[in-house]
Amino acid sequence: TQRKIVLETTSTSFPSSHKKIVAPKDTPYFVENEFRLSSAESFIDVHDPATNNLVTRVPQMSKQELQEVIRSAQKAFSSWKNTSVIARQQVMFRYVGLIRENWDRLAAVITLEQGKTVADAKGDVLRGLQVAEAACSGPEYMKGEVLEVAKDMETRTYREPLGVVSVICPFNFPAMIPLWCIPVAAITGNTVVLKPSERAPGAAMILAELAEKAGFPKGVINVVHGAHDTVNFLLDAPEIKAISFVGSNKAGEYIYERGSANGKRVQANLGAKNHALILPDAERDQTLDSIIAAAFGAAGQRCMALSVAVFVGETENWLPELVKRAKALRVNGGFEGESDLGPVVTLQSKARIERLVASATNEGATIPLDGRGFKPDLYPNGNWVGPTIIADVKPSMECYREEIFGPVLSCITVSSIDEGIELINANEYGNGAAVFTSSGIHAERFRKNIEAGQVGVNVPIPVPLPMFSFTGNKRSVAGGGSNTFYGKPGVNFYTQLKTVTSKWTSRDVGPSKMALSMPT
Ligand code: NAD
Repeated sequence: TQRKIVLETTSTSFPSSHKKIVAPKDTPYFVENEFRLSSAESFIDVHDPATNNLVTRVPQMSKQELQEVIRSAQKAFSSWKNTSVIARQQVMFRYVGLIRENWDRLAAVITLEQGKTVADAKGDVLRGLQVAEAACSGPEYMKGEVLEVAKDMETRTYREPLGVVSVICPFNFPAMIPLWCIPVAAITGNTVVLKPSERAPGAAMILAELAEKAGFPKGVINVVHGAHDTVNFLLDAPEIKAISFVGSNKAGEYIYERGSANGKRVQANLGAKNHALILPDAERDQTLDSIIAAAFGAAGQRCMALSVAVFVGETENWLPELVKRAKALRVNGGFEGESDLGPVVTLQSKARIERLVASATNEGATIPLDGRGFKPDLYPNGNWVGPTIIADVKPSMECYREEIFGPVLSCITVSSIDEGIELINANEYGNGAAVFTSSGIHAERFRKNIEAGQVGVNVPIPVPLPMFSFTGNKRSVAGGGSNTFYGKPGVNFYTQLKTVTSKWTSRDVGPSKMALSMPT
């Protein structure tokens, strides 16, 4: 029952139609550096969001299969941990090269399963690849500290890997999120059990295939499948020492609690409601273009998507121009060159987004641009929602309180920068916030007072590059945000400090004195 995964494009250039990508009928899991078909009794169908054609089926793996994978990862740990960090780094160099070589192929499967445009899918891969590139300097971050603390005595610290770690991923960045974790966990000497989203597993499968090609030994990188039952199994498995989760609040808060209660380290990045504050001294064209790109790119299915525009004073008059620019966006299948945004991921997502837009009208908001009911000619069966703008939004409305996660921008007007900051701070999410202004004084005031983890100044989606870390705030992270992804904090998350104090005294110093009290 073993077979190789055949997720590949038949041409080296981007496919112009879906027919050129072949996905396996059933997505295999990956253990011992090979793909195996699950003997699962139930499967989750993955549909192409542009056509709703079946792409592949994802197995709800059995407990026995999951245990077999964890056992393999556990077995691989002691030799991987004891492989020199320089040897691990060599594997990582090769992995980086292979991801770059397979960039188009990864992007194509993301578009097929998840719907985003090919250009945007390439960005998804690149942002993950950059983490892998930065992880090549992992040895630098792993260096310990040493100090002579007393005569003949020194204390030194070592960073040691934790063991088997598990990564539970969302659907919206099928390459980037696995790559936020695999490289950092593996370079530091851990072994990895990754569970991709059951809605977009293909990129993770290619990343697994490339891991084997790069030279990761058997058992170091593993991929399992399934939904809640698989997650519960991973949360309860005593061999798993840490959980990295990215996804919704509903799942993440539960996962944080259950994983922590089981004594595991948990890092969990959750939902968002990102605001942009637009000041009258902002550069108008650049600001409007930035807002459009950040609100509607990836059909709004980014945790750093801009979902609320807060106009200060007379900038509310910019709304008609904003609507005009949003209307000009091309909504189409992600493989079509003429496409700015693709479909949303599932029919359920589409229904949820449409329900929230309807709730806005019911609660007194206005809809100057309504994308409901839109269908591109070539793809009548897809999950389409065109760019939608809701105006006159109030913080009490459901469309403001809920994360919409679609191509919908809510607009609010306030009278001053302070009122805007107060409004944004009152929102329970705190992933990102941006200010648009040409005043350094205003920008500084915003930067100092805003309660958001990622702040943009004339930058709409300020996702930090991998030499920094992804630093959400408030309910956008579980556990107060102490365990952030990638960068130096990512290395800290996947390693345990060991602090060793040693004393070496030469024999000729005379007899030692016994002391039972603490040294003073
Ligand atoms: P999701 O929470 O539905 O799924 C994420 C993962 O959790 C999947 O692997 C899924 O199988 C699992 N899961 C879902 N419900 C579960 C449950 N009840 N019990 C156990 N496991 C469960 O999220 P999604 O819809 O795939 O992704 C979109 C969400 O992710 C949005 O809320 C978005 O803001 C968030 N997100 C956050 C970040 C960030 O860094 N803050 C990045 C990307 C996405």
